[in-house]
Amino acid sequence: MRLTVIGTGYLGAVHAACMADLGHDVLGVDTDTRKIEALAAGRAPFYEPGLAELLTRNTRSGRLRFTTSLQEAADFADLHFVCVGTPQRPDSLAADLSHVEAVVDGLAPLLTRDSLVVGKSTVPVGTTRSLSRRLAARLRPGVTAEIAWNPEFLREGYAVQDTLRPDRLVVGATSAHADGLLRTVYEPMLRSGVAYVGTDPATAELVKVAANSFLATKISFINAMAEVCDASGADVVTLADALGHDVRIGRRFLSAGLGFGGGCLPKDIRAFLARAEELEVGEAVSFLRQIDRINERQRRRTVDLARHLLGGTFAGRRVAVLGATFKPDSDDVRDSPALAVAAQIVAADADVRVHDPEGLDNARAALPGPAYCPDVVEACRDADLVLHLTEWRQYRALDPAHLSEVVRAPRLLDARNALDPAAWRAAGWQVRALGRPAPV
Ligand code: NAD
Repeated sequence: MRLTVIGTGYLGAVHAACMADLGHDVLGVDTDTRKIEALAAGRAPFYEPGLAELLTRNTRSGRLRFTTSLQEAADFADLHFVCVGTPQRPDSLAADLSHVEAVVDGLAPLLTRDSLVVGKSTVPVGTTRSLSRRLAARLRPGVTAEIAWNPEFLREGYAVQDTLRPDRLVVGATSAHADGLLRTVYEPMLRSGVAYVGTDPATAELVKVAANSFLATKISFINAMAEVCDASGADVVTLADALGHDVRIGRRFLSAGLGFGGGCLPKDIRAFLARAEELEVGEAVSFLRQIDRINERQRRRTVDLARHLLGGTFAGRRVAVLGATFKPDSDDVRDSPALAVAAQIVAADADVRVHDPEGLDNARAALPGPAYCPDVVEACRDADLVLHLTEWRQYRALDPAHLSEVVRAPRLLDARNALDPAAWRAAGWQVRALGRPAPV
């Protein structure tokens, strides 16, 4: 099939490459010229495992092309996926839908054949309905077009495999025609057993927001337990392990630490709160306000514990920060808990040296102030404290005995509960973590 993918960021670039890999003829569209140039040359404009190979293979084969022209998109296909951003509005908790609306406004008058527009961005429930009215009002006479919603659940760091082998596909459509077209697009995946949930657009929109709310709740729940552990001398890791044995609860997403961030979870639960208020069901989801607060508090708790470990002040102390991205295997620093902590420590006059395997360029652009070190050992040189803030695999492979010779004082705060405290202590380190008792 011929299709376009409008918006080629973290979601759209992967979607476009994967759709081409399934055998479709794909045109990716973005307003960002530099991004389009990189993608057209077969280069990934951001770090995502496996994406570069897919881009190279499919741009070479000619099945995947890129443009900045919406006119070209309208001429190319009758099926358009919309993957533009829906960030938090600067003035409220609500989602900013201006990018999605701009695509609909721009595309509608260019369509000359009956078309299907499929939203993949995360949007408040009810958006498909309002966009459908917007689309209809701008179509040329005699042209019909409809909108379906097919929210995306991919995780950065696993985006390619999540797109090609998702846990489920969710499609909210108002016609059998739209549903049928999407089943055809995803046919190779359906054949390999991927579950397909066909529903109405409102339910589809809500599945995505509800899934993110549930995941955020699980993380903030265990972080709340970590605070109780700190106050009572209990151990949150053992607690999570024990809870996780219960199949009704499960161990995943029960890792206590610095909390969630990124371009999705925080803004999605806030947008849900705002939309629920509009629907006059704000009270029903008001617990999400607390989920957000618990999450933000972990950043302050980490800074407070770091200050405590340094004897009450950051001034004049050197702090090594391991990790800048919001999660491992990504270069994304949007609302990164690690960078938020680094920013607070810089503001408190510490000499901060940040290492990250993939996120240094984005971090440097987002937070001037710290020194950015491509080498992890250099980041730790002469440090009074090492802060582990993003759980990259390579930090688990560090040799604590070697590092103890590089730092000024062998002090570690593992804000992700991902390093082996026994191994670090055996190498002479003082180790602290959120929700774990300090050894006596
Ligand atoms: P992003 O900022 O990386 O990408 C958005 C892209 O859209 C940018 O490249 C931007 O230049 C482009 N764009 C903006 N306006 C445009 C326009 N009018 N025409 C063409 N292109 C335009 O954002 P993202 O992380 O890819 O997220 C996109 C959407 O997908 C959001 O709604 C997000 O919540 C959702 N989502 C993201 C992820 C993820 O892991 N990143 C996962 C699931 C869902």
